[in-house]
Amino acid sequence: MEVPAGQNKQKEQDFLVASISQLSISNSTSPQVVAKFHYDSGVAELRFDPESDSNASVHFVLHTSRLFKLSPFQSVCISEASEMDKEKSYSRGISIQFRNEEESRNFHCAFEQWKKEVVVQESDFPNGTVLSSQSKFDDKIEASSAKMYFHYYGQLLHQQNMMQDYVRTGTYYAAVMENRVDFAGRVVVDVGAGSGILSLFAAQAGARHVYAVEASEMAEYASKLIDGNPSLGERITVIKGKVEEVELPEKADILISEPMGTLLVNERMLESYIIARDRFLVPNGKMFPTIGRIHMAPFSDEYLYMEIANKALFWQQQNYYGVNLAPLQSTAFQGYFSQPVVDAFDPRLLVAPAISHVIDFTSAKEEELYEIDIPLKFVSSVGTRVHGLACWFDVLFNGSTVQRWLTTAPGAPTTHWYQLRCVLAQPIYVMPGQEIVGRLHMVSHKAQSYTLYLTLSAKMWGPGAEQGGILQTSSGKLDLKEPYYRLSQPQAYPLPQDQQSNQLLQTQDIQIQAQDEEGSDLMQQTLQDSGAELHSL
Ligand code: SAH
Repeated sequence: MEVPAGQNKQKEQDFLVASISQLSISNSTSPQVVAKFHYDSGVAELRFDPESDSNASVHFVLHTSRLFKLSPFQSVCISEASEMDKEKSYSRGISIQFRNEEESRNFHCAFEQWKKEVVVQESDFPNGTVLSSQSKFDDKIEASSAKMYFHYYGQLLHQQNMMQDYVRTGTYYAAVMENRVDFAGRVVVDVGAGSGILSLFAAQAGARHVYAVEASEMAEYASKLIDGNPSLGERITVIKGKVEEVELPEKADILISEPMGTLLVNERMLESYIIARDRFLVPNGKMFPTIGRIHMAPFSDEYLYMEIANKALFWQQQNYYGVNLAPLQSTAFQGYFSQPVVDAFDPRLLVAPAISHVIDFTSAKEEELYEIDIPLKFVSSVGTRVHGLACWFDVLFNGSTVQRWLTTAPGAPTTHWYQLRCVLAQPIYVMPGQEIVGRLHMVSHKAQSYTLYLTLSAKMWGPGAEQGGILQTSSGKLDLKEPYYRLSQPQAYPLPQDQQSNQLLQTQDIQIQAQDEEGSDLMQQTLQDSGAELHSL
């Protein structure tokens, strides 16, 4: 049946052309050519400069160019005719012959990255022409936050600080080396490679190839470090860019990463880790680390509480050089209590066994990390004043040979993450055996962190408790991005709960046992520098 024009898509259309020929390797041996990605007057270009004749350069504007692979060693680069004047201008093409497959692969990666960067750069133009969304990262994160973040990680001193956390780095090393079978002969992607240290570990464990993806300027230093270790470096390719944006030439059998921030989720890099999984990992591929757990328990710490409350007292003064500061007192009080406290505390300050929230990196959806809502329920072991919620985390390397945990628990060897405490402006009183309930609601924000909404309530006890009801409730709103680093404070603790032991550290709802309790000579449990900075901004 004849289909009336305009009602259906055309199925076929024929043209007669004069002839066709295969686009293939040209046999003419031209002298070597340097291919250069660069900016010329703000426009990203790929320029080919024949070594013999600098006048014979060929330029391609990256914005309108595409690269196609014809064979392992050969590609064609085609530059489209300008959009403005398609009728009169023509596309141009060049055939590129590489010296080997590795160089071809690196060139393709660089081409894709440069093209991506063009989009980012052009979106910065004041007339706002190209404002298409560049990647999931840019959609979620404020440009100013990302700029500061990658500037921070671009500095060697911050990478050194993480490397000098021997609990952290030693555990990664042990987890990789003890699980060589998971790396030997495999393709690995290092998500946020920083200095490249984990890529070098993976190469030591026999990885076939490691792609070290790093968005900050640290990528250049990582290349230097990797070049300086040639026996490992020959199997590592450093790729500068965000894991949300870069293209890799092959899929990975295993991902390795250190995406944990304070309270596990700070910096929102877990989301990048999950995006990298969805983009690069083969189905059922491995992830190092595999799962993460946030542990939480109520604590009592009069010293800490007084210290915070006292800071706001400054604003109580009614005659500060003749000025009444009191109008700002409640604002200051709120401000101090909105800062989560980061330090290493004595686990005897915990008043109930911890509970935990598990994030399985192998199955979690990225969106699930936008908002994390944790119901809280504890039974107090002592009668005391509860000042808030203490939190820490651990991650599991679920290797085929050994399962190893990296923990940041109080009482365990200190890491550069320390622990985190959310202090409530209004303490609550509890009796031994009394139930404490509440909620920790974590809402991500565009500055690569979370707003924490904490509520703790103590159920009624003693005479009249049968009637039920909540006796006391205390709430706080804290910004995980603005912690109070309380690291130089003397750690003096009165021990009203001396009878308690570290048993409170054991979670009530242990879901994953299999902790590798055995010591390993690979592990260096050296305490790290106590003055070290945090893995967060
Ligand atoms: N893997 C290194 C560095 C860990 S710190 C080590 O273990 O020592 C995290 C690193 O990830 C930082 O260098 C940071 O710049 C990088 N990073 C964070 N988000 C990223 C993203 N979306 N894409 C690429 N790199 C990222």
